[in-house]
Amino acid sequence: MKQSRNGKWTQDNLDRLEQKMGQKSREVIQRMMLRTEDGQNPYDLDFSGREALAERLGKEVAAMLLDENLQYDLMAEVVQEASSWKCPRCGQDCPSHRDEHGNDAYEDAEIKTKVGKTPVKLRLFWCGKCRKVFSPLPTAH
Ligand SMILES: [Zn+2]
Repeated sequence: MKQSRNGKWTQDNLDRLEQKMGQKSREVIQRMMLRTEDGQNPYDLDFSGREALAERLGKEVAAMLLDENLQYDLMAEVVQEASSWKCPRCGQDCPSHRDEHGNDAYEDAEIKTKVGKTPVKLRLFWCGKCRKVFSPLPTAH
């Protein structure tokens, strides 16, 4: 059983994430920085309005980054292809939990971060000793 991470973060993933974050930032930068010829902000934002926009952008970018990072962890080959996982409670090697068709079981869940909630699909394992289902992502259960 491997616990080290060997999932792949491709250039395409990186480009897509950068593009998404860049687009979000550009919209906000434009709203904050744009000035008409007489120096007015066309969106009529005073400083506290611009401050709120900047703060929200920070949170949105952080949420995007955390979301991507969590999906990446969950989709890592070591998680997806593992035939067993060590139980976080008792340390025993546990088999994949099975759904009613005998396939690897997954659970839809939400992971709460400091900036929001990320919907995830968690692969599940079953510990017969603890009689509990668990996911390799320790913060998820
Ligand atoms: Zn256990």
